[in-house]
Amino acid sequence: MSSSDDEYDIAVVGGGPAGLTTALYGARLGHETVLIDRGGGRAAMMADTHNVIGVTEDTSGNEFLATGREQVESYGGTFERGFVTDVERTGDDRFRLSTSDAELVSERVVLATGFSDERPDPPLPRTGKGLHYCLHCDAYMFVDEPVYVMGHGEAAAHVAMIMLNVTDDVDLLTRGAAPTWSDETAEQLAAHPVDIVEEDVTGVENDPDSGWLEALEFEDGTRREYRGGFPMYGSDYNTALAEGLGCDLTEGGEIDVDDHGRTSEDGVFAVGDITPGHNQVPVAMGQGAKAGLAIHKEIREFPRSREAIEADGPVDPDEVPAISPELMATAVAHEGHAGGPRGEVAEAKGRTPAADDD
Ligand SMILES: Cc1cc2nc3c(=O)[nH]c(=O)nc-3n(C[C@H](O)[C@H](O)[C@H](O)COP(=O)(O)OP(=O)(O)OC[C@H]3O[C@@H](n4cnc5c(N)ncnc54)[C@H](O)[C@@H]3O)c2cc1C
Repeated sequence: MSSSDDEYDIAVVGGGPAGLTTALYGARLGHETVLIDRGGGRAAMMADTHNVIGVTEDTSGNEFLATGREQVESYGGTFERGFVTDVERTGDDRFRLSTSDAELVSERVVLATGFSDERPDPPLPRTGKGLHYCLHCDAYMFVDEPVYVMGHGEAAAHVAMIMLNVTDDVDLLTRGAAPTWSDETAEQLAAHPVDIVEEDVTGVENDPDSGWLEALEFEDGTRREYRGGFPMYGSDYNTALAEGLGCDLTEGGEIDVDDHGRTSEDGVFAVGDITPGHNQVPVAMGQGAKAGLAIHKEIREFPRSREAIEADGPVDPDEVPAISPELMATAVAHEGHAGGPRGEVAEAKGRTPAADDD
């Protein structure tokens, strides 16, 4: 248990769905937890939220994130707005994190820094109203609609073919660039009803009321109607901190992790879009939860191991509970606490809190 204001058990860098979830588990499992977030990640770009059970479609990314921050803070987690410029291992095997105006030390560090989508050159439709970066979130919007896929690499060719699962009107816009997809992909693409348009885009026509895309104009003077589409120009992974710590990266440029978010460096975890896997809010949250639980198992005080009992003796009654006085006070005052209003309701219904499996 850390004791001073700038000492934590868990420091999370990045406050998207992945980092917020790890921070929530950390605080709720009784660890001093800080989350530092610059803001403006991929979740913040969501005009609506799709694929998240329990969250309605009309919830914007910023609303979703604001609720998440409130939840973390309600359990005693600390939220700081800032950009982490450096993380280094200290002599006592902790981590020192630096922002432009503060330094803090933590037992464990979690990198939830995400990536930025490479943006094609303008002119472009408006993001979320014809320009979309998340295939498995937004393809549903374009069932039976005319769509474009922009790009000239493997991913663009594949996404164009994938879109044929939901619509029969798919154009692949290479915008004057020579395709870099393989001969095998070229053969596969030729066997699908996808129109390849080579001319660059010169203009965008939007509905004046809704702002939604209506058509794109091309340098040969043609005009093609679209409801929306997906640019496929790759991802710029925010791995500078991971690289500084010596974490292994995958061939694709993500941070290499095990099934619980552990990187190749002891004490350093990574979760969400910055790691391999589907780039989806529920996946990021699942990874955040797994890392939070794995860290809890690594750093919780009890049960004391048999080796530690042999070395340090049995647990003295004065040593328990291990939770800090501040986190204990927050938990006891929380509306979900068993001694609070909800606990009384549960008791009246004859329910007892279920124990976790381990
Ligand atoms: C336009 C758009 C719409 C989408 N719609 C959906 C959808 O409807 N449903 C769905 O499931 N998925 C959707 N996605 C995908 C989803 O947003 C991501 O999979 C998810 O946000 C990943 O969460 P994350 O926490 O890993 O990363 P992010 O949400 O990107 O958060 C990373 C955070 O880390 C911060 N950060 C980075 N470096 C630092 C640093 N050094 N110091 C401090 N902070 C730092 C960033 O500023 C950012 O706030 C969408 C993506 C986009 C781009």
